[in-house]
Amino acid sequence: MIDWIAFDADDTLWKNEEYYIAGRNRFLEILQKYGLDTADIENYDQFEVGNIQYFGYGVMSFVLSMIEIGIEITEERIHPSDIQKLIQLAKEMLSQEVEVFEGVSLLLERLSAKFPLMLITKGDLLHQQRKFAASGLAQYFRAIEVVSDKSSAVYEGILNRYNIDPARFLMVGNSLRSDILPILELGGWAVHLADHPTWSHEDDPANQLDQEHYLEVEGISQVWDKMVEADLFSKQV
Ligand SMILES: [Mg+2]
Repeated sequence: MIDWIAFDADDTLWKNEEYYIAGRNRFLEILQKYGLDTADIENYDQFEVGNIQYFGYGVMSFVLSMIEIGIEITEERIHPSDIQKLIQLAKEMLSQEVEVFEGVSLLLERLSAKFPLMLITKGDLLHQQRKFAASGLAQYFRAIEVVSDKSSAVYEGILNRYNIDPARFLMVGNSLRSDILPILELGGWAVHLADHPTWSHEDDPANQLDQEHYLEVEGISQVWDKMVEADLFSKQV
């Protein structure tokens, strides 16, 4: 019934969002001395989303957005040493050790014995490749795709290239917007890790879910059992 299983990476296989939360807090600390209205600063999530069309997803986009907002809300008073701190923050985030979630290795080991696995992740190419290599998980994957966006058209392109029937494709991920809805739209299967930390931008309300192909679990440790329960193994040719 399933020919390929794909996994998202950030906040699905390894920690990610908590580093961004820490990064935002660092930014707020840096700006404290400028005596700004904090509501202004905390509202910059929207700003960052607006910048995705230019910079894409990832640390570099995140930090460029902070620099831009910093310049704007301080009315160009932000000191170069504070901009330097933000650039330093980017370097720290980009060299952050990869922390794989508990249970991921075991799940990938079991699944990779039955299915070819693919990693589909978005963000900075170099950073994603580095995290993948550092995760120790590369051995379980047959393919890796780093994309700049996760629209259904992008997924469709990948499925076509690998000659995969969407109805025989399953994607596991933490983001409804990026990992789940586009796959269901194409007629594929999706497992949502509902309890994993997720950036608010990725947390689209799930009102158009194809219930038949949608599986929800709290965490990685439940994925295997959920697939068994949905009868996705027994029909395996
Ligand atoms: Mg993710």
